[in-house]
Amino acid sequence: MRHMPDVPDSLASLEGQKAGLLRKISELGEFRPGSITTTTGRCGNPGCHCHRPHDPGHGPHFRLTYKEDGKTVTESLCFPGGTP
Ligand SMILES: [Zn+2]
Repeated sequence: MRHMPDVPDSLASLEGQKAGLLRKISELGEFRPGSITTTTGRCGNPGCHCHRPHDPGHGPHFRLTYKEDGKTVTESLCFPGGTP
């Protein structure tokens, strides 16, 4: 008796994975890799001029927020010489 490879079960397994992935994608809702927000005032760079006592700070200031390895990462987009 020849042992049959487990093709039908593999296909069923793949179909199950596909259905699971499609469901996860549909549950994501707002689908975006990151977002850019604007803030005014002081940025996250302690060496920046905006952290000096009488500096009015930036405005508007751009920040990039995205997910990396399940953690929310926020980067300050500090443009030398002002906003682009
Ligand atoms: Zn700054």
